[in-house]
Amino acid sequence: LVAAEASGVERDGGRDEGLRPKRLCDYVGQPELKQVLAIALEATRQRQEALDHVLLYGPPGLGKTTMALVLAEELGVRCRITSAPALERPRDIVGLLMNLQPRELLFIDEIHRLNRVAEELLYPAMEDFRLDLTVGAGAGARTRSLELPVFTLVGATTKAGSLSSPLRDRFGLIQRLEFYNCSDLEAIVVRAAGLLKVELMQEAAAEIARRCRGTPRIANRLLRRVRDFASVKGHGPVTAAVVEEALAMHRVDALGLDASDRRLLELLLGSYAGGPAGLDTLAAALGEDPDTLEGVVEPFLLQLGFLQRTPRGRVVTEAGRRHLEAA
Ligand code: ADP
Repeated sequence: LVAAEASGVERDGGRDEGLRPKRLCDYVGQPELKQVLAIALEATRQRQEALDHVLLYGPPGLGKTTMALVLAEELGVRCRITSAPALERPRDIVGLLMNLQPRELLFIDEIHRLNRVAEELLYPAMEDFRLDLTVGAGAGARTRSLELPVFTLVGATTKAGSLSSPLRDRFGLIQRLEFYNCSDLEAIVVRAAGLLKVELMQEAAAEIARRCRGTPRIANRLLRRVRDFASVKGHGPVTAAVVEEALAMHRVDALGLDASDRRLLELLLGSYAGGPAGLDTLAAALGEDPDTLEGVVEPFLLQLGFLQRTPRGRVVTEAGRRHLEAA
C-alpha cells in the first residue's frame, strides 16, 4: 500500500518536488470545484461525519490527485492512493477497504477501468460501509458481511462516460475539472518557480502559461525544461525569449501544441482531407491507444476549436488548418 501511495503521488517522472498545493486556499483556479468542495468540507466538519463520496473527472494533469490530497489535509485524515489497474484481484480491493481507518479517504485513479468484481465489492462498501465476501465454493458457498469504517471514496477518471451508471450514482458529488486559464496558470508557474528556486521574469511565466495546454502538470514540466536550459545556457533571470528557445527545442509551439497534437491534425489533413475519420482508424494510423487519443490528446484540441467530434468522426476545423499552415 505504501508503494501504491508513493507511485500515485510521484507520477510526474517520479518527482513532484513538493509542488502540490496542500490546502484548499493554495489550490489555484477551478473556482466552481473549490466552492462546492469548501461547502461540503464545512458541513462535514460541523456534523463530524465522513465526506460524501466524490467523483472528479477531466483530462490528466488538471489536479484530481492533488484535490484528493487537499481534501484529506483539510479533514485531517490520511488519503490512500491507488489506481484501478492495481486492483485486479478481489483481494487487492478487500485489503485496501479493510485497512481503512474511520473517515479516511481512498483515492482510486482511472476508476472507469475497475473490473466487474472490484466494482461489485465497492457498491455495498460505498452505500452501507459493508463488505460482502463469498466464502467457500459451489453449493457450500455463503456470503459473509463485514462492517467497514465510514470512509470517503474519491474516484478520478478522464472518461466519466465510461463509468457504469450504478457506480456513478453512488457518488454524492460529481465534479468536472476544466482546463486552466492563462492567469491561473501563470500563478501556478510563479508559485512553482519559487519552490524550485528558478528566477523567472513575469513575461517568462506568462509564456510558459500560454504553452502548457491549459494543464498544471505540463506547466510544471515545461518549467523544469526551461530551468535545465537556463542553467546550462543562460545567466540571470529567465526571459520570455529563453522560454521560447527552450520550448522550441522540445517542439512545443506558440499555443502549446506538441508533437502528438500536430501529428493528429497532420494525419487528418494529409490522409483524410481534414476528416471525418473515426477514432479507431486515427489511433491505429498513429500507433496510439484510442483511449489515450480520446482522453489525453483530443480534449485540448477540442477546447481550442481546432478539432470537432461529429457523428461521422473527427474533423479538423478551419482554425486548426490555419494554425498548422502558419506553424
Ligand atoms: P491529475 O490527478 O488530474 O492527473 P495531479 O493532481 O497529479 O493531476 O496534478 C499534476 C500536477 O499539477 C501536480 O503535481 C501539481 O503540482 C500541479 N497542480 C495541479 N493542480 C494544481 C492547482 N490547482 N494549483 C497548483 N498546482 C496544481
